[in-house]
This record gives sequence, structure tokens and C-alpha cells, in this order.
Amino acid sequence: MRKRIVAGNWKMNMNNKEAQALAKDVAKVLGNVTDVDVVLCPTFTSISAVADSIEGSSLGLGAQNMHWEEKGAYTGEISANMLLTAGCRFVILGHSERRSYFGETDETVNRKLKSAIKAGLTPIVCVGETQEERESGVTEKIIETQVRGALEGVASADFDGAVVAYEPVWAIGTGLTASTEQAQEVHAFIRKLLASIVGEEVAAKTRIQYGGSMKPANAAELLGQPDIDGGLIGGAALDAESFAGIVNAS
Ligand code: PEP
Repeated sequence: MRKRIVAGNWKMNMNNKEAQALAKDVAKVLGNVTDVDVVLCPTFTSISAVADSIEGSSLGLGAQNMHWEEKGAYTGEISANMLLTAGCRFVILGHSERRSYFGETDETVNRKLKSAIKAGLTPIVCVGETQEERESGVTEKIIETQVRGALEGVASADFDGAVVAYEPVWAIGTGLTASTEQAQEVHAFIRKLLASIVGEEVAAKTRIQYGGSMKPANAAELLGQPDIDGGLIGGAALDAESFAGIVNAS
């Protein structure tokens, strides 16, 4: 049985004060949850403040991006080790907003994945098709390219423990959610694909989150699917009660 994992991606929301307040609110309602991994992913600037706010709770901390190099002349960038030593255990990689606005490619996701694993962070690797790709019937082809690209040269033992997030781009922040059938179909496809890349055993253990307008009202149905092991939550993670509604449906 895979332990569920629900992560809140706060994106470029919440200044330091707001982030601290939200983290404290989440800790109040979810700080003792141990049967689900609950992870908060604030902006880089609030990582330390959020780490302090959730200290002593069961909540985990993650970042929304990182650079693949360990250190050096990369102005504005942040390494895996910097995240780790600031208190992060998780890092989101290849979010569709990074891919579409900041030139993230399967190759950079792959480099980041290797670097995150090497540093000891748990990666959350995001994949997903656009509306146009779904309508053209190439969803599986797109997902396969993204998953294979991200995992290129990654040893199966190293991928053990990593998390994948299936996030149909057309469902992110739009209020549109994939139907439970659509989501389960892609999740099952990803698990089968992982089995062919990292082997049955690691694939069976890999947690695959759904992301895309998940909210308390639709969480239970999505999370009731056999291959949906949690959620990557954007908008609904910015309010402690709605985030808790999703975690409690897990
Ligand atoms: C996301 O950006 O990872 C996401 C799923 O956003 P939302 O929940 O707002 O659709």
C-alpha cells in the first residue's frame, strides 16, 4: 500500500509574513497527520520562515524548482544542497509553468532529477499534456516522452522513492479537472511505463500524484482511483481549510 502524498505548490504567492501565517494555519489543522505525507512548497524566500513555522510538526517542506549544478556562477539560481540545508526534503521539477514560461525541457528536468537524487532530495517530477495534445490524441505519446526524458540514465535504485505528478496542463488553475476515468487512465499508463523503465518493483512503489484544480469537492473521487496516490495542489493549497479538506479526503 502506497502512502498518500499531498503537496501544496504555493507558486509565486505569499510574501514572507503571509507564508508564515499560512504555514502556521496548516500546522494547526494538519501538523499531526502521519498517515499521509503532507508537504508545503513555498517560494525560495520563505523556505526558512516556513521551516521555522512547521518545526516539530509532521509537515514536510519542499521547493518549487532548483538548478542542476551544485554551485558556481549561476546568478539567481539555487542548488539542491542549498534547499536541503534550508530544511527542504522535496523539490518539484518540471512543473508545466516552468516548461512553458521558463524554457524547462525534458533535458533540464533530467539534469535536475539526477542532481536532486544525488543531494538526497525527494523529487516530484511533473508531466502532463496540453489541451491541444489531448484533443489530437497524443496524450500518451507526450507523457511517455516526458517520463523517458526525465529518467534518461537514472538508475532504478536511485529512482526508488521519487514521486511523479500527472498534471494535465489544461486543468491547472483553470477550474477544469480531468474526470476520474481520464486521470486513472493516465496514471495507470505512467505506472506501466515506469515498470518498463525502472522495473515492476520500483514502479509499484512510486507514488503518482494528480494535479489540476483538485479541491475538497473532487478529491475523494480522484484519490479513490487505484493509481492516484495523492495530489499536487495549487490554488486550493493557499487556504488551510481547503488544503486540509483534500488531505482529509486522502
Ligand atoms: C499546480 O500548479 O500544480 C496545480 C495543480 O494548480 P491548481 O491546483 O491551481 O490547478
